[in-house]
Amino acid sequence: MKCNKCEHKAVITLQHGSLCKQHFINYFEDKVFKTINKYQLIQRNDKVCVAASGGKDSLTALYLTQKYLKQNNYPNQVTALIINEGINNYRDKTLDDLKQFCNEHNIPLTIASFQEEYGKPLDEAYPIINKTTGKKPCNICGVWRRQLINKHAKLLNATKLVTGHNLDDESQVIVMNMFKANTSISAKLGPISGIEEHQDFVRRIKPLYFCTEKETRLYALLKKFKVEFTECPYVTHSYRAEVREMLNQMEEKYPGTKTGIINSFLDILPLLKERELNKPKTSKPNVCKCCQEPSKQEICNACKLKEELKC
Ligand code: SF4
Ligand code: ZN
Ligand code: ZN
Repeated sequence: MKCNKCEHKAVITLQHGSLCKQHFINYFEDKVFKTINKYQLIQRNDKVCVAASGGKDSLTALYLTQKYLKQNNYPNQVTALIINEGINNYRDKTLDDLKQFCNEHNIPLTIASFQEEYGKPLDEAYPIINKTTGKKPCNICGVWRRQLINKHAKLLNATKLVTGHNLDDESQVIVMNMFKANTSISAKLGPISGIEEHQDFVRRIKPLYFCTEKETRLYALLKKFKVEFTECPYVTHSYRAEVREMLNQMEEKYPGTKTGIINSFLDILPLLKERELNKPKTSKPNVCKCCQEPSKQEICNACKLKEELKC
């Protein structure tokens, strides 16, 4: 099959036609840069940090954020941040890929770890915490990683935190929240996360918001980003995996389903945000008294989990 724009061989067929390697790369980059501009994800003086994992999405987000800042002659350079959870045979591999990538592209990299912050790697902390609380590895990992990313982004003086979430990820979360009636959580989604500026949170932005999983995978492949295709040993067959499967089947049968979910969600998102803003504010403390990180309770969930290690 030929490219719709030139004589070369097509590498992908999208809804509006087929594209060759170069025209696909142009299309993909254009889409990412238009997202950044349309939703004003990055301002001239922003200090942008990319929360990286070494996977295809975060390497693509990192590469294109750097390209965007350079193309626009913005004064600050991009930095990368990775959390080493301490998962044997998994994170060590993706960490090596990220180190190499950052070296090649001259990007400063910060590595924070569960070991340093909480005293143990996830592989050791999980069995101990699980005994007393029954918590699964992903519950612990998610809470600690979220906290460390925010903490270290602040230490780096970052004003924006890029994540590699793509259109597939976002459409899954939208549907999951809808099925579970989590409208307050949905209000925090969108190309720029959160409802309003908060001094203790670095705002998260998603430049790959309109890029599908398939497009992102192809882009990373064509750009020859070195990516390990290893899976975390703790990954389980989750609710999310079922929603992903369902949406993939719908997309196959009715192309454009995922984009439809995203676009209709973006239509109602301002209303969801407004509703959250109009809710009466609670007088609860908003920072944890142990670690000073944002928390709705006196002691945050991350510190509570850390306490379990001392039992
Ligand atoms: Fe952490 Fe679970 Fe993801 Fe593994 S699958 S990295 S344990 S959240
Ligand atoms: Zn072409
Ligand atoms: Zn805390």
